[in-house]
Amino acid sequence: MAFQHIRHKSPRLVGLAIRHLQNLTRRDFVAGAALVDGRWIETDQADVVVDPATGEEIANVARCGVTEMNLAIAAAERSFARWRELLPERRGTILRSWASLMLRHSEELAVLMTSEQGKPLAEARHEIAYGAGFLEWFAAEGERAYGETIPSHKPGSLLQVRMQPIGVAAAITPWNFPVAMVTRKAGAALAAGCPIIVKPAPETPLSALAVARLAVEAGVPPGVLQVLIGNPIEISTPLLRDTRIRALSFTGSTHVGRLLLEGAAETVKKVSLELGGHAPFLIFDDVDLGKAVNGAMAAKFATSGQDCLAANRIYVQRSIYGAFVEAFATAIAQLKVGHGLDPETTIGPMTKSSVADKCRMQIDDALSKGARSISVKQDPNLGPNFVVPTLLSDVTEEMMIAREETFGPVAAVLPFDSEEEVVARANANEMGLAGYVYTDSLRRALRLSEQIECGMLGINTPSFTGPPIPFGGWKQSGLGREGSRHGLAEYMELKCVCFGDLAAQENRYD
Ligand code: NAD
Repeated sequence: MAFQHIRHKSPRLVGLAIRHLQNLTRRDFVAGAALVDGRWIETDQADVVVDPATGEEIANVARCGVTEMNLAIAAAERSFARWRELLPERRGTILRSWASLMLRHSEELAVLMTSEQGKPLAEARHEIAYGAGFLEWFAAEGERAYGETIPSHKPGSLLQVRMQPIGVAAAITPWNFPVAMVTRKAGAALAAGCPIIVKPAPETPLSALAVARLAVEAGVPPGVLQVLIGNPIEISTPLLRDTRIRALSFTGSTHVGRLLLEGAAETVKKVSLELGGHAPFLIFDDVDLGKAVNGAMAAKFATSGQDCLAANRIYVQRSIYGAFVEAFATAIAQLKVGHGLDPETTIGPMTKSSVADKCRMQIDDALSKGARSISVKQDPNLGPNFVVPTLLSDVTEEMMIAREETFGPVAAVLPFDSEEEVVARANANEMGLAGYVYTDSLRRALRLSEQIECGMLGINTPSFTGPPIPFGGWKQSGLGREGSRHGLAEYMELKCVCFGDLAAQENRYD
C-alpha cells in the first residue's frame, strides 16, 4: 500500500489515514528518489522526513549534492531546445493532463501533504485544487504570449516585440504550500517553454516528488522538470553560479531571499522573490462586527497561521475595539488544535520547531511589554511543534510581533483612532505583501486602496489568491509576480526586432 510506512503514534490516526487511503489507486507516491533527467535516482545518503505533529519518521529521501545538481543542469540545458520548439498548445495539453492527474489523485496527495506539513486535511485538499489551477491557467496563458507591434519611429520599418523563453529556470520552494508553490512556478516556466529544476524545502519533499511523478505520467519529457532535495546551501550554489540557469524563483523568508539575490548577481539572473509579509488588517467602526471577525479569523488562522498573507497586525477602531476583542476571542475558542488527519482539526502543528519557538518568543515579548493574552485550552499531550492559538490584545508597535512576521496562530490586535493615523501605522513596515481593509464606506475603501503600500489588498474579504492574481509584494516582500499573465513574463525575455527597408519607395515624403 502506498502509505504503508507512514506510522503515527495514535492508533486512531493510523485508522484515519488508512481509511482515507482505502479504495484509492495503489501508487507509490512516497518514493524518496530524486528526479534527474527523467530518472528516479537514489544517492548514498538519505534525509529523513518527519511528521511534524508527532516527530515520527515517515520517509527517507535521497540527499543530492553538487554532482547530481550539475547533472540536472546539463539535462535541463539539453532538453531546452526541443521543449521550446513544441507548439504552446502542445505544452498546454501536457500541463492540463498534469493538472487532471493531480485532481484525480487529490486524496492521496492531500494525505501525504498533511503527513509531512501538518496542515488540516481539508486545507491540504484545497491546496491540491489550488495548485492544479495554476497548471490549467498557465496552459492557456502560454498560448497568449502575444508580444506587441509598436508604431515605428523609423521610416519604412516595423517594430515587433517578441516574448521568448528565457532558458533553464530554477525554483526554491517553501514548506508552507509544498504543492502549490511548485506548480505556480513550474506551470509558468513550462508554459513559457523553459525547463525548470525544483529544490523543495527539506521538511516537505514528498509532496513535490509526488506531483513530479504525475508530471512524468502526464508526458513532461526528461530534463524539463527535475526535483532534487539536499542541503539547501550546497545544492543551491550550482544553481546560483551556473550561467546556464537564467531565471531563479524563490518563495521563503526575506533573509534567504536577500542571500539568493546577492548570489544571483554574479551571473545577473532574472530573479523573482516571494518573501515574508506583515499584513495589516484594518477594521473601521462602520463595518458589521460579525463579518470583520470572520474575516480576521480566516486571514489569521488559515494554514495554522503559516501563511505569508496572514493578518499580522489587526488594527481595530477604538469605538468597537472592546466588542471586537470579545467576539474574536469567542471565535478563537472554537479552534480545534490537533493532528491534521483528524477531521475535527482546524489548527495543525507548526511544520518547523523554529517557527513554533518564534511564536512563543513573540508571545512572551508582548506579554512582558504590557499586552494581554487569551489562549485556547490545549491538550497537554500534543507535541512541541503545536502552538496554542492566542489572541494578544493591547499590542503596541514596540513589541516584536508588531514588527516581525508571525508565522503561526498568534493574533495581535491594536486599537486606533483615525484613518490617517492607521494608514501611517499600517505602512510603517518594510514588508508590503498583503493588506486588508474592512469598511462600509466606498469613499474610504477607494482612498485606502490607493494608500496602503502592498502588492495585494483585500477590501471586505480575507481571501483573494488564485491563478488570475498577480501574486507578489512591495518593498522587502519581494520582486516580480507569480500567477496571472505577469507570472509568465518572469520566464520570458523580450526581444525587439526592427525590420527595416520595407517601404516601396523609402523616404517618399521627405
Ligand atoms: P527559508 O527561507 O529558510 O526556507 C525556504 C526555502 O529556502 C526552503 O526550500 C529552504 O530549504 C531554502 N533555503 C534556506 N536557506 C537557503 C540558502 N541559504 N540557500 C538556498 N536555499 C535556502 O524559511 P524558513 O527558515 O523555513 O522559515 C523562516 C521564516 O520564513 C518563516 O517563519 C516565515 O516568516 C518565512 N517564510 C515565508 C514563506 C512565504 O510563503 N513567503 C514561506 C516559508 C517561510
